[in-house]
Amino acid sequence: MIKFLDLKKVNDLYEPQLCHAIQCVVESGRYIGGEILEQFESLMKNVSGANYVVPTGNGLDALTLVLEGYKILGKLKVGDEVIVPANTYIATVLAVWRAGLKPIAVDADQLTMNIDFDKIEQAVTDRTKAVIVVHLYGKIAYDYSRLFELKKKYNLLVVEDCAQSIGAKVGKVCCGSLGDASAFSFYPTKNVGALGDGGAVATSETELADVIRALANYGSDRRYHNIYKGVNSRLDAIQAAVINLKLESINEIIARRIERAGLYDRLIENQEIIKPIFDNDGSNVYHQYVVRTKNRELFRAFLLEHGIETDCHYNVAAIDQPCCSGEFNGDYEVSREIAATCVSLPIGDHLDEGQCREIAQVVNLFRANK
Ligand SMILES: *Cc1c(COP(=O)(O)O)cnc(C)c1O
Repeated sequence: MIKFLDLKKVNDLYEPQLCHAIQCVVESGRYIGGEILEQFESLMKNVSGANYVVPTGNGLDALTLVLEGYKILGKLKVGDEVIVPANTYIATVLAVWRAGLKPIAVDADQLTMNIDFDKIEQAVTDRTKAVIVVHLYGKIAYDYSRLFELKKKYNLLVVEDCAQSIGAKVGKVCCGSLGDASAFSFYPTKNVGALGDGGAVATSETELADVIRALANYGSDRRYHNIYKGVNSRLDAIQAAVINLKLESINEIIARRIERAGLYDRLIENQEIIKPIFDNDGSNVYHQYVVRTKNRELFRAFLLEHGIETDCHYNVAAIDQPCCSGEFNGDYEVSREIAATCVSLPIGDHLDEGQCREIAQVVNLFRANK
């Protein structure tokens, strides 16, 4: 059986350094903050290209804190509209609500499966103050010139959701410094996964970084001095130690994912299966390799019969989740079509090249009507 993802196997790649890193934290006696967190910030500054990194408890908090931070700075206020992709993971939408703002969903682009830049402008109103760009499946969702045009024309903040795209770049510019502020996640299944939850905000705005750092620590700017109604959202030293170890080999992590995607791109040839665009320029770090087919359930069952586990990201679009009922009334045809047809093939570090070839072979054998 080829599993969709095998985290034990993925983390075995980092042994014995992984256990050693954790043991060092245990022996240090310092479990929150300290040198390991400073190292984390410095590594993440490199990876994001941003001047400041604030560690958080998870990716959802990172996104929420960015929006809360802008509220404190007076750049956003309760009820302002924030544009999000209709087919994102639900966390993006939840962050907007948690910050007391109003998410406005825009449909996906058929080809990139990211937000459709042609449709953003139609969604802008007097109350639109920000866009959260999600680099879904690891692919940079950035049409530089066009988003900058819109940003200037309507004075919008651009927040990047980099939960799936750590290390992706457009030319030399890293995701995390394409917009005004960004959020990262180190949830165990992400490309750089902790052994639990973890997240970070990256930004080059000094004031925003200061506010978020305080907000994440009970709203305190110095000890026992609470200036904001903050939260407790910190990255544990043990998780930071694990993430630091993996960040040191982030280039290899990304190269292996692009290699597997390249294999799939070359080897999969089946009229019934639509492959994603293959990018070999670092603008896609292939968090997921998402193919599409009209006969999704048959296809998944066929692969499973041949010992291959798959997943769906996501079989219900965010806008169609029960918690969103009655909130979004736009035209979300493409997002719904993606939700109805998407299949994620295994692409994690638990696979070897032979298994990727085997998966491609089986994919090529599939016929909906035998
Ligand atoms: C995983 C994910 C998040 C949330 O990250 P957590 O660390 O699980 O809170 C946000 N946005 C996207 C697109 C994600 O994939």
